[in-house]
Amino acid sequence: MNGTMHPVIVVGAGPVGMVAAASLVQQGIPVLVLEKSVDLSKESRASTFHPPTLDMLHDLGFAEALIAQGLKAPTVQYSSTADGLLGTFNFAAISDLTRHPYRLQAEQFKLTRIALETLRSHPLFAIEFGCEVTGIAQTAEGVTLTALQAGHEVSFNCSWLIGADGANSIVRRAQDVPFEGFTWPERFLVMTTPVDFTALRPGVSSVSYVADPERWYFLLRIVGAWRVMMPVPTEMSDADALSDGYVQDSIRRVVPPEIDAAIQHTTLYRVHQRVASSFQNGRAFLVGDAAHINNPLGGMGMNGGIHDALNLTAKLGPVINGKADMRLLADYDVQRRTVTMQAIQGDTIRNKRNLEAKDEADRARFRDEIRAAAADSEKGRQLLRRIAMLDSLDRAAALHAA
Ligand SMILES: Cc1cc2nc3c(=O)[nH]c(=O)nc-3n(C[C@H](O)[C@H](O)[C@H](O)COP(=O)(O)OP(=O)(O)OC[C@H]3O[C@@H](n4cnc5c(N)ncnc54)[C@H](O)[C@@H]3O)c2cc1C
Repeated sequence: MNGTMHPVIVVGAGPVGMVAAASLVQQGIPVLVLEKSVDLSKESRASTFHPPTLDMLHDLGFAEALIAQGLKAPTVQYSSTADGLLGTFNFAAISDLTRHPYRLQAEQFKLTRIALETLRSHPLFAIEFGCEVTGIAQTAEGVTLTALQAGHEVSFNCSWLIGADGANSIVRRAQDVPFEGFTWPERFLVMTTPVDFTALRPGVSSVSYVADPERWYFLLRIVGAWRVMMPVPTEMSDADALSDGYVQDSIRRVVPPEIDAAIQHTTLYRVHQRVASSFQNGRAFLVGDAAHINNPLGGMGMNGGIHDALNLTAKLGPVINGKADMRLLADYDVQRRTVTMQAIQGDTIRNKRNLEAKDEADRARFRDEIRAAAADSEKGRQLLRRIAMLDSLDRAAALHAA
């Protein structure tokens, strides 16, 4: 039993937990991070940082190193296989609203590494790897966590707990917080390839969505490679979907036969849309995937999680430092859960429906909407504000607990 009362414990050293920790340390608050793995994750997952997220990371001192390791994507493109290019949108049109008018393509593990390198030697920061939280219990004064570390049960006490422990969050489950929503029937296949789509498709954007009623796809450029994402039919087994034959058949839909279509990496994953019924339970908060998960079309999962982390710590920091009343904390759930339900879930579900639409009326509506936004600068700005997640941040800022 460790008798220390930590002001804040963050469970999970993913991008959201590390950003929450960095923000509190920046406000002079000691933070202990507990991470079940023995090191930071190397998983190739999120690879898009939106403009306001980059602004926030700049304020934490992380943006410069991340930008140096990533690739700037100034435009986003929408096409359909039937109608060709529908519209190209340049973030320069909203450069009055952000200091980073582009999407940054950089894998999320680059951010967690930059954060750890920066924080590691800070006297207010501590991290325990190989420490799996197994349960939590709350009183009016604090939270006690039990964990498994090197095969032994250990416990930790804190005044405030931040659950940044991903989709299968123990912080959420231990408090019986419902995680309502649904799982899409199809899985998504992501193929990473060195094929140069800029040579293959002159003018292609580094972020390019292609609607198709049979099999939509999404092209995303990262440093030295492209990711191609496509849905996999519901009835196909995981083994068949990951077989060389099916992967080659899939990549050949976007790469002509005369070009070598080497595959460096494939990922197959299930996609969910779920939101926790509360982001605060007394002294415990949920942030990031622990609080909400959505499909990756729009790149809003990690970005929304970072927005949660900074919204919460902008309230928790002043409360701990005695500069704000505890009632301020209630705004976190109201602001972030509302925009997660209304904006992020809605946008990501609509993005998928638009790309896969089979009905001609639905396809025409999407086509017309994109063409209209491409033809009208004010409508184009509205679209950019929404896809850059600036709208959801503005909406959150306007909400307050009763
Ligand atoms: C293929 C793919 C592509 C994606 N693309 C994008 C994108 O382009 N843009 C975007 O915004 N989002 C994207 N996402 C979503 C994004 O990856 C997640 O939203 C993001 O990882 C959430 O970060 P997190 O820190 O909340 O959780 P995680 O990254 O899941 O981190 C949780 C951490 O908690 C630790 N942990 C878990 N349980 C415990 C425990 N009991 N005790 C201690 N530690 C624990 C885990 O080991 C992990 O390190 C994508 C996801 C996938 C799968």
